Amino acid sequence: MAPMREDCLVCGKLVPRAHGVAFRDRRIVDLFCFVDRADLASAPINQRLLGVHVLLVDDNESTMELFREALEYFGALVTTADALDGEAILRHMSPHVLVTDIAMSCDGLDTARQVRLLHDETGLAIPEVAISGSRHDRDRLRGAGFAAFLPKPLDPFVLADVVATLHHERRKNSPRGGGR
Ligand SMILES: [Zn+2]
Repeated sequence: MAPMREDCLVCGKLVPRAHGVAFRDRRIVDLFCFVDRADLASAPINQRLLGVHVLLVDDNESTMELFREALEYFGALVTTADALDGEAILRHMSPHVLVTDIAMSCDGLDTARQVRLLHDETGLAIPEVAISGSRHDRDRLRGAGFAAFLPKPLDPFVLADVVATLHHERRKNSPRGGGR
């Protein structure tokens, strides 16, 4: 197998391991290139996630509260769950974006796998953002099908921009021509 490339798909610059990235067709896009959108900049900063439903999965209550607070500041509707709840919740509702902290255990990866199974069954695509304290996780997450990797310590503004961009792309690509 060819080694996975480390340069940004958009600008061609090498992206250091510790940086957050989005994944596109198994290539990486640095976050500056990924969120660099005019329509994002036009929204007031605390309304970037207005109307976006995020399922936040974390097995640590205090970090979950931190991430929840950040997402809600930007206007998102946030449902929280530990990994096991996450799977159950997905059977009852379809969030727009899933954000999962995978640092503590493999549970986050399990939930992510569940989301993809759901995708295969129903055709419902939910982009998944992984937050991880380990810079070595990047290739693993890329292989696992995540939409983006954000390193800790997390910048909440970066998180908001990434979630907003993923939601925007998902709507654009929706077969129903927009979705919610
Ligand atoms: Zn770039």
